[in-house]
Amino acid sequence: MSENQNNNDELMNNQPETEEKHNEYEDICYMCRRPESVAGKMIHIQPNICICNDCMQKTFDTMNNGGFNMNDIMNMNIDMGKMPNISMINLSDLQGGIPQSQKLKKKKPKEKREAPVLDIHSIPAPHKIKASLDEYVVGQEHAKKVMSVAVYNHYKRVMSDTNDGVEIEKSNMLMVGPTGSGKTYLVKTLARLLDVPLAITDATSLTEAGYIGDDIESVVSKLLAAADNDVERAEHGIIFIDEIDKIAKKRNANQRDVSGESVQQGMLKLLEGAEVEVPVGASSKNAMVPMTTVDTKNILFICGGAFPDLDEIIKERLNKAASIGFQADLKDKYDKDENLLTQVTVEDVRKFGMIPEFLGRLPILFSLEALTEDMLVKILAEPKNAIVKQYQKLLAMDEVKLEFEDEALHAIAKKAKEKKVGARALRAILEEFMLDIMYEIPKDDNIGKVTITADYIEKKGGPLIEMRGVAAIPEMGE
Ligand code: ADP
Repeated sequence: MSENQNNNDELMNNQPETEEKHNEYEDICYMCRRPESVAGKMIHIQPNICICNDCMQKTFDTMNNGGFNMNDIMNMNIDMGKMPNISMINLSDLQGGIPQSQKLKKKKPKEKREAPVLDIHSIPAPHKIKASLDEYVVGQEHAKKVMSVAVYNHYKRVMSDTNDGVEIEKSNMLMVGPTGSGKTYLVKTLARLLDVPLAITDATSLTEAGYIGDDIESVVSKLLAAADNDVERAEHGIIFIDEIDKIAKKRNANQRDVSGESVQQGMLKLLEGAEVEVPVGASSKNAMVPMTTVDTKNILFICGGAFPDLDEIIKERLNKAASIGFQADLKDKYDKDENLLTQVTVEDVRKFGMIPEFLGRLPILFSLEALTEDMLVKILAEPKNAIVKQYQKLLAMDEVKLEFEDEALHAIAKKAKEKKVGARALRAILEEFMLDIMYEIPKDDNIGKVTITADYIEKKGGPLIEMRGVAAIPEMGE
């Protein structure tokens, strides 16, 4: 009685502060791992450990056969080692109970839902979504426009529960664009602006259930984690699957290729909308992890990939069209066109190796442009959290002004372009040149301004360093 009572008293005293937090999460049966909403009312046997009625009954039944005294059991005075079913469990090790990450947020009862997670009136109109994207993402006008409209329609569809027979199709998207052109960045920015959870995964890591690797449903589990185990929030989230071109069927292969194609097959149900059983707070299913059901019907799927050689397929198609009839064009007309990808059609992607059923579930197909030198310069300096602005902020903390000559920015962009990894190279290149500056500047309090010159980037000279005005020096000395 005494120790248990004390524990319980302690729990009661702590309750006011944590009660609200606890109330938002469901209890989970320690033995069968089912949440309260499935298994029914729980019996608390220790702080944070509960067992459902069924499991309690089973334990009693087993113990009745083994000759235990029920009163002892209720008061937890028995030696747990003697309990046949749970002989391996030492309750004192389990004081922490189930970690918070494995607890499920309770679903709100349907009839008295106060405010919906998403409200159609709070979803910004497409032009507003695009305007916000403009603050962060340079160029890619077409992609931003298509995405804004698709997202707006998607959430409109989620909100509309009128049963008039007109069902709006899901606006899952397929994004084609070279590496480093901002595919992931666009999706991340979008999810942040809309305040919905986002899970990002690589198609290469996905395998059919039963093979080594993450099975396809693990993406939903990731999304649930991103939504703090709140199933309702997860069901309105976004899943981004990168490198989708890596699961294309192999072209011109004689033998049947199963790996990529079967992963595409496996994803069909998920893309369309299915109830998926996912583990809570863990990436793999096992006996110790509670499970829950997530409906993917309202989850927005965005797939992205670089689709190397897709331009060859497009070129072939365009050349074929151009060589017929009296408008026959030069054969190499499209050879130098960097933005052939913008002319992509579903047929091209199917030829690349995506199966028609898969493409049918990603009705919105669009492409991103390859970044030009001018765009790279803008990416360096213009977005809200541009890399240049980040360095300026860092040095401003040392009361040093940092400036970049226009030619210097162009020199960095040129170097980045040579690396052919899009905007991704920018940070690495700048980092290399800023290292010395970030190291040397704090040594000398008299330095007031640093200008990065094109000569410095081209390794023909150094940065321009200016000292503080005379009036400023005594102030710094104090
Ligand atoms: P990928 O297309 O390969 O997914 P990312 O989205 O990962 O490329 O881009 C890498 C980084 O480059 C991003 O984190 C972002 O900072 C920057 N970036 C790429 N494209 C743009 C863009 N259009 N505008 C602003 N930043 C960009």
